Amino acid sequence: MLILVTNDDGIHSHGIQTLAKRLIPLGQVVVAPDRERSAVGHSLTLHSPLRAEQISPDWFAVDGTPTDCVNLGIHGLLAARPDLVVSGINRGGNMGDDITYSGTVSAAMEATLMGVPAFAVSLEGESFQAEDFRVAADFAADLAERLLNRRLPPDTFLNVNVPARQVRGVRLTRQGRRRYGDVVVENIDPRGRKYYWLGGGELGFQDLEGTDFHAVCRGYISVTPLHLDLTNYRSFETLVRWDLQESHPEPSAEG
Ligand code: MN
Repeated sequence: MLILVTNDDGIHSHGIQTLAKRLIPLGQVVVAPDRERSAVGHSLTLHSPLRAEQISPDWFAVDGTPTDCVNLGIHGLLAARPDLVVSGINRGGNMGDDITYSGTVSAAMEATLMGVPAFAVSLEGESFQAEDFRVAADFAADLAERLLNRRLPPDTFLNVNVPARQVRGVRLTRQGRRRYGDVVVENIDPRGRKYYWLGGGELGFQDLEGTDFHAVCRGYISVTPLHLDLTNYRSFETLVRWDLQESHPEPSAEG
């Protein structure tokens, strides 16, 4: 068995170090960004070369994004196709709308696009010392073993979020919603010019039963099955009544 381990906090972060060590008995190779690449989403490096430095037999540091790492791992660096991709453990939760910005989640998404089973794992909380990641690493190892022995439904990967406090159990959840507030901080730099800082404010979330946020803030590990199809099927019913096809009529047979 071969597990490709990646993240978006960089190869030297405690989260990936703790996770990778815990996965050694299952067989792992780390291909991760050489520095922090949080919130790069699903971006891919297409206009500059990528370099991978082999820092130890099973560890490769790449000067690219998490998505680059999954690509490079599967198509270039690994001796064999991985049986599983695990991304994390991220410093901070990846829940609700935040998922779309997340490099951690995007790495798992990329693996799914390539037909390799995958999950992302993130730790909610404020303290991110090496020992803080232990519970999440244990859960990830258990989940990895399950995924190596079972088959996920098609087009599906898992997004795992682990609470910081004492874990009370595990919940299968759906993606929640953030409550957006004043997320842009405006200030003046030392040279007297205005600058802006995104995401500076404290963000809340809608505390809806069954969601990732709801589970994690009550001490449960949240497992959300995600898929790549972003189509909003429920909207068809409304949109078919817009008669969009009539706004640009197809040319008639006579031309
Ligand atoms: Mn991160």
